[in-house]
Amino acid sequence: MLVEITESDHDVLLDIVYATERNFTGIPVYRRPGCYLHPDAAAALGRAVTLAKAIGLRFKIFDAFRPSEVQWNFWAFRPDPEFLADPRRGSAHSRGVAVDLTLVDATGRELDMGTGFDAFTPLSHHANTDISAEAQRNRFTLLGIMSAAGWDFYGNEWWHYQLFQPTRYRVLSDSILDAPLSAV
Ligand SMILES: [Zn+2]
Repeated sequence: MLVEITESDHDVLLDIVYATERNFTGIPVYRRPGCYLHPDAAAALGRAVTLAKAIGLRFKIFDAFRPSEVQWNFWAFRPDPEFLADPRRGSAHSRGVAVDLTLVDATGRELDMGTGFDAFTPLSHHANTDISAEAQRNRFTLLGIMSAAGWDFYGNEWWHYQLFQPTRYRVLSDSILDAPLSAV
């Protein structure tokens, strides 16, 4: 049902921040650093990996499938529709068709994107010109690769990409996984 994305199989780096304390809740909300996508999204990621590799870049993934239980917990923690999907409507993450990611160079160093992942600030918006020119160029490189690979972007978060018309896909519970992600 969902495809596990691994560093070796998909030639990406994984830093699943919700399995660490380095996230906006301050506590690990996943019990393990699992990364899963719907097969359609996994295929689109594969196209993006190929395009990035052609210009000497790779991806570092921060989050992908986010069980609906976790989205409810996030919403209870921070009910901010600018940066989180209302779980009543269903996040594309909970459908397995969204990914949060950045680009890294050949040495694995993250490109400067102007803000970190999950920075809840207008500086994280696409087309923000208050960040450095280099960061703007890096965001456009990410946007270009992901768009060419078939992904839609979200205007408020430079790191978030999802398949078009995500409501075609079902919202999925943690129980879809053999080993649940949710730590609660
Ligand atoms: Zn996202």
